[in-house]
Amino acid sequence: MNASGWRTIGNEKAVAALRRALDGDRLSHAYLVTGPRHVGKMSLAIDLAAALNCDGSARPCGECKGCDRTRRSIHAGVHVVGLEDGPEGRSRTLIGIDQVRAVQRETALAPFEGRFRVVIFDAAERLSDEAANSLLKTLEEPPPQVVLLLLTSKPEALLPTVVSRCQLVELRPVAGGAIAAALVDRLGMAADEADRIARLAGGRPGWAIRAAENPELLTQTDEKLDILEEVVLGGMADRFAHAAKLGSAADRNREAGRSELDVWVGWWRDVMLVKEGLPHLAANASRMESLSSVADSLTRSQVAGAISAIRETKSLIERNVNPRLSLEVMMLDLPRVRQP
Ligand SMILES: [Zn+2]
Repeated sequence: MNASGWRTIGNEKAVAALRRALDGDRLSHAYLVTGPRHVGKMSLAIDLAAALNCDGSARPCGECKGCDRTRRSIHAGVHVVGLEDGPEGRSRTLIGIDQVRAVQRETALAPFEGRFRVVIFDAAERLSDEAANSLLKTLEEPPPQVVLLLLTSKPEALLPTVVSRCQLVELRPVAGGAIAAALVDRLGMAADEADRIARLAGGRPGWAIRAAENPELLTQTDEKLDILEEVVLGGMADRFAHAAKLGSAADRNREAGRSELDVWVGWWRDVMLVKEGLPHLAANASRMESLSSVADSLTRSQVAGAISAIRETKSLIERNVNPRLSLEVMMLDLPRVRQP
């Protein structure tokens, strides 16, 4: 567990480096925070924003007005720019130049509240080219008392010129033990339940906290696993029917497609673990029967092929390729499982 008011779970090295920079007054004006989805990039950004506007001695203290208002997302000096704030309350597919210009107008003024303005770009890989080029000017000539935090799970999708002007903070998947401990400490969860959720989280504390606060997420995961097993063990007709269904869901909401495919990747990774003789490491321990039967009937390279087919499909859907078509190709690529 991190000392003082840092709420980020795990990634102690990244946190320690930022704390040293903060204490030595050597913070960079821009950071690129990378790592898988739900690993804690936003938590780290909020910790840093709170620290920058904290009046306590161990920053962030977690108790002063600056910390409190930052954590409640109402601090006037902390701005989050992302895909949520589209016109008429709709979500956007790209972060537009209008959003970057709004940030530039805002950061030209001294902060009204606190000492720093902190601008957090969530899903920075979704900056449009125009927006990224405009942001580049701010990165080249940063206004005083402004810290920009670019968060991304896909640093390779950012303009290299943007990346080169940011200091890199790489977050990595967090050990299950640290996630479970945080669930017990912060949410008062029973140890065995915390352990179960931490296993399913696959190194993502953000997912674990959401699942702990919203048990429906676990039920949904269970339902997804039921369908997955039916599809994997079923014939082509079942597979195509599911591709159509999931395709239209993903068409309406890409997140639905992504989270379903995350569950799929996790399940197939478990098949591989069982095949490698490491069943105790499987996240979906309650599914051991189907995991073992699939592991027995496929070769190692077939299982690896399934994992890469699903990952590829996920990245196509993220890039706005027709979800149904991508899913149909995936269904064809997944190995046929011979029923005993
Ligand atoms: Zn504070």
